[in-house]
Amino acid sequence: MSNESQNEAQDAELVTDDTVEVAPLAEQDAAPAADEAAEPVEPVELPQVERTPLIAGNWKMNLDHLQAIAFVQKLSWALKDARHDYADVEVAVFPPFTDLRSVQTLLAADKLSLKLGAQDVSPHESGAYTGDISAQFLAKLEAAYVIVGHSERRHGHGEDDATVGAKARAAAAAGVTPVICVGETAEDLAEHGAAAIPVAQLEAALAELPKGAEFVLAYEPVWAIGSGQAATPEQAEAVARALREAILRARGEEAAGSTRILYGGSVTSQNIAGFMRQPNVDGALVGGASLKSDEFSRIIQFKKHVTGA
Ligand code: PEP
Repeated sequence: MSNESQNEAQDAELVTDDTVEVAPLAEQDAAPAADEAAEPVEPVELPQVERTPLIAGNWKMNLDHLQAIAFVQKLSWALKDARHDYADVEVAVFPPFTDLRSVQTLLAADKLSLKLGAQDVSPHESGAYTGDISAQFLAKLEAAYVIVGHSERRHGHGEDDATVGAKARAAAAAGVTPVICVGETAEDLAEHGAAAIPVAQLEAALAELPKGAEFVLAYEPVWAIGSGQAATPEQAEAVARALREAILRARGEEAAGSTRILYGGSVTSQNIAGFMRQPNVDGALVGGASLKSDEFSRIIQFKKHVTGA
C-alpha cells in the first residue's frame, strides 16, 4: 500500500460502529407470510452441485473513499486474524462509485483476495449519458461484480425489468458478473405469494441476458431490506428453490447447478447460519450489517456458527 493511501486511511474518520448490538432473532418481528398457501406443484429435481458461498456487502451510499480504505483494511485484518480462506467463502464489497479506484488500488497493493463490485451500471456502452458509468469502466477497475435491479433502484429510480435486463447484459458483455436482485413487496407477498414476482423478475432479466452469461441472483424481499425483519430461512429457501427451477427451465441443468443464489434482507451474524443451512441459498447480500467490519467479518465466518466450531 502506498504512503499516500496509508495516510488517507489514517486520516479517515471511520463512521462504522462495531459495538452495535443486534437483536436476537426471537426479538425481531415475525416475517410476514403470504395470505394463501401456494398451490401444490410437482417437485422438480434440481442438479446437486457444490457452489462456493458468496458473502457480499452492499454499502449503498455510505463511506467515502477515505473511510473505504480504512474499512477494507480493518476487515481484511479481521479476516486474516480469523485465518479466513477466501477460496472457501468468497467475499465481495460493493462501495459507491467514488470509492472504487481507491479500494481497487488497496486490494492490488496489499494482494487482498476480497472481490470488488459496483452498485449499479449503465445499460449503454458509451456516449451522451450524463452521470452514467459504463460496464467497461467497471471492468477497467477490476470490478468482478455489479448489482443490477436492487429494489432501491427499481422503486426509487423507476427501473423496470427491461432496464434491469439491459444492465445485466451490458455488464456481462464487459466481463463483469451481474448480481441480479429480485424480490417481492409486502403487498406482492399478500397478493401473489412469495415466489411469483421474484421469478417473473428473473425471467424478464434472463430474456435480455445472452445464454451462457454467468450471473449471480440475489433474492431480496423488499419488506426485509433495512427493516430488521428478515425472512425466515424456510421462506428464503422456498423462493430460492423456485428461482433455481426457473433457471433450470430457462437455461438448463448446468446453469441451474452452478448459479449462486444469495438471500438479502436484514442479514446479521445472528441469523446468517440459518440461511446458509438451506440447500438453495449460496450466500448473502448484506446491507446495513456490512458497514460494521467486525459484524461483517462474523457473517463471513458463518461456517463457525453452522458447525459450532
Ligand atoms: C440490501 O440493501 O441489499 C440489503 C439487504 O440491506 P439490509 O441488509 O440492510 O437489509
